[in-house]
Parts: sequence; structure tokens; C-alpha cells
Amino acid sequence: MNLQPFLDEFIPKPYIIAGPCSAETAGQMLDAARGVAAAGASVLRAGAWKPRTKPGGFEGYGAEALPWIVDAASACGLLSCTEVATSSHVHKALDAGIDMLWIGARTTANPFAVQEIADTLAALNADVPVLVKNPVSPDIELWIGALERINAAGITKVAAVHRGFSTYGDTYYRNSPQWRVPIELHRRLPGLPLICDPSHIAGRAEIVDKVAQQALDLGFDGLMIEAHCHPAQAMSDARQQLTPAQLRDMLSALRLCRTKDSGSERLASLRAEIDNIDDRLLSLLAERMAVTDEVGRLKQREGMPVVQPERYNALMGLRSEEAAARGLDPAFVRSVLAAIHEESVRRQLDIVNR
Ligand code: PEP
Ligand code: MN
Repeated sequence: MNLQPFLDEFIPKPYIIAGPCSAETAGQMLDAARGVAAAGASVLRAGAWKPRTKPGGFEGYGAEALPWIVDAASACGLLSCTEVATSSHVHKALDAGIDMLWIGARTTANPFAVQEIADTLAALNADVPVLVKNPVSPDIELWIGALERINAAGITKVAAVHRGFSTYGDTYYRNSPQWRVPIELHRRLPGLPLICDPSHIAGRAEIVDKVAQQALDLGFDGLMIEAHCHPAQAMSDARQQLTPAQLRDMLSALRLCRTKDSGSERLASLRAEIDNIDDRLLSLLAERMAVTDEVGRLKQREGMPVVQPERYNALMGLRSEEAAARGLDPAFVRSVLAAIHEESVRRQLDIVNR
């Protein structure tokens, strides 16, 4: 890929892009722009067209919202950035004077849509920076493919935005970070600026700072953060938006990496992998307990006792053999399984005695 460094030219590092999920009114955008500029952001983000999972949600005010974003950004000395998903969005955003575009996760997942955007940019001979969010699934080839399509259209000012990946079932995160994917992207395209969107990973304001810190510890170049003056009233993604004051506090508390030393980057990457595995372990435990509860209800209907010693012994014997084969200490595995079993029995007793 032919990449040109571009953000360094006009904004300080780490690049801070912030603003509401959606542009709702001219006044809301101006208030948000003032707030995020005071908090330390350099680029104002806001969606004019909102891709919604289900019909009936707020889909954005479209082209009408573009001047709200552009005017608010320029009034506060910020660059403006919005999402485009079609050829017509690109025309309208550039006509309105938007400085930077981003391609959303649902669009990156669709090569036809990305190609349509790329063709439009090429036809316009545009020189606008384009941020490409990861596709909703952890498919690195699809992400790189989208970056390549945009780059092949003559856009050399390209950056990647990591916003996490959809997973089935309840997890701690809204979109699981699976840090090894952006780490691999960085290994394959070392010249590509990497920005993290901790808001869409976290899904709730309380843990945005934790995710942002992990991203900086991993050597990310910048952050895209959702901020709204009245998050509870936001028309989309209300739970995950920070107030400008929270954004300011978070940015001033973030530890910046002092060094690009690969030793510590590697350490941070391993720790992130451990956090990810622990997240999966917790999901698995929750899944196991749900099945346990179902077994409890069945035993109750069939009038069976909660504990069958033969079943417990068989389970322990089999698993300790497996533990040894996997290089785990059988005594450690027995104690973990005993604790899980004890909790299952407690839940089943609760069910039977309800
Ligand atoms: C957004 O940034 O508001 C958005 C819709 O993001 P994503 O494409 O990452 O879901
Ligand atoms: Mn959003």
C-alpha cells in the first residue's frame, strides 16, 4: 500500500478524535465541539447517517446535519469527520466541507459498498483522509481489503480504527477487543496509523478509560471517543458517551507510552490477550451455570436428587486426566472443578427449594 503520514502534519499525538455518536442539532454540535476542544481533542466526530441494526432506530438527519458538524468544528479550531457508506454520502460530505471521512464497521464488511466509496473518491480525485473501521467480524483480510480498495483509489491518507468485534451472547464488552487482530494489522502494515475507538468496544461509559489505556499501552496512535453534553438524552449510543468533563478527566489521566520499546509493547500485548481469555472464561462460566440451572429444573420436575455422586466422581476423574495431558496440574484443575461444582449444586438447591 502507498501510505502517506498525514495526521502528524496538523494534529498532536496521540490523535484525539471526539464528539457525539450522532449530530442531532446545530446547537448540540456547537456545545459538543466546545467541550471536546477544551478537553484536548483535535478532530470533531459525529454521524450524519447512522447505520442501525434494526429499523425504527434514529437513522441520523443526513445531509442536513453536515453543516452543523462543519460549522461547529471550524468555530472551535477542530477538523471535522463523519461517516460515509454510499457514493451519495461521499459527494454530500465533501460538498459540505467535511475534512475527514470514516467508513463504519458494517460498511467495511461489504466489499461492494467499500468499492463504491473508493470509485467515488477516485472519480472526484479527492485528497481527503479516510479512516477505515474494522469490519464487525474479526476478519483481518476483509479489513485490509477495504484499506487497499481505498488506497487503490488514490487515497494515501488512510488510517485504521479498531472498534472491536461482535460476539454472540453476553460479554463484558459491547464489542470484544480481540487485541491480537489490530496487533497483527500493525505487523502487516507498519506505516498505517492505528486509532482505537474505546467507546464502541466498551459500550458503557464506565469502562471507556480502561479500554483507552489498554490501547495506548499497546502503542495505538490515537483514540476516537464518543462525547455528548447530555449523554442520557443522546439519540444513539447513550450508554457509552462521555460528557466533555469526563473526557477531559480521562485524557489527563491517561498514561502515554514513554517508549516504543518492543519489550513493553509485547508485554502489554500479552496482558491484553490474558484479559481477553479471562473475559472468555467468565462468559463460559456464565454459560455453564445457565445449563446447570436447566439441569436443576429438570431434576426438580423428575423428582431426582440434586447430587449424583457417581456423576461427580466420573467428572473429576476424567478431567484430571485431561488436565495432565494439557500440561496443567491435576490438583489445580480438581480444585477449580470442585469450586465450579459446588456453585452448581448451590444454584440447583436454590431452584429445587424455590
Ligand atoms: C459510530 O462511530 O457511531 C458507529 C456507528 O461506529 P461503528 O461503525 O464502529 O459501529
Ligand atoms: Mn456510536
